[in-house]
Amino acid sequence: MILYRLRCKRGHEFEAWFAGSAAFDKQEKRGQLSCPNCGTSSVSKALMAPSVAKRSKRKAAAKKEDDRPVVAEAPKPETQRVAAHHELASAMRKLRAEIESKSEYVGPRFSEEARKIHYEEAPARGIHGEATADEAKALKEEGIEFYPLPILPEDQN
Ligand SMILES: [Zn+2]
Repeated sequence: MILYRLRCKRGHEFEAWFAGSAAFDKQEKRGQLSCPNCGTSSVSKALMAPSVAKRSKRKAAAKKEDDRPVVAEAPKPETQRVAAHHELASAMRKLRAEIESKSEYVGPRFSEEARKIHYEEAPARGIHGEATADEAKALKEEGIEFYPLPILPEDQN
């Protein structure tokens, strides 16, 4: 038995088993072959099945390779994450710029100034500056309200 891959004049491909190549030739000459798709008896040999199978296998492998760039695009969520991060960073930058523009920079005297404002020893105003962890803790204990400035990604470097 031999498997032939056949192709009709309209381009339909199909497979058919024959007792041997002579049997195929005989049937072809007698017009006994017909395309299962369109019924035409104008059918000829395409590639033999084994090589077709091999080719389609290679084709499948090639397809897999073609698919690879899609997998390579997987870092998309990463890109989105970075974008979100940038968005957040820019929002924080904006907020921080707003705080900084509307308040007075007092530098390391922050806790001192905050305390003065709290006890009305200094004019009430927005201030920003630096405080150590101990100073921040002391302010909190005295019930002095303050908020840490948004930390920007560049600050963490
Ligand atoms: Zn056909």
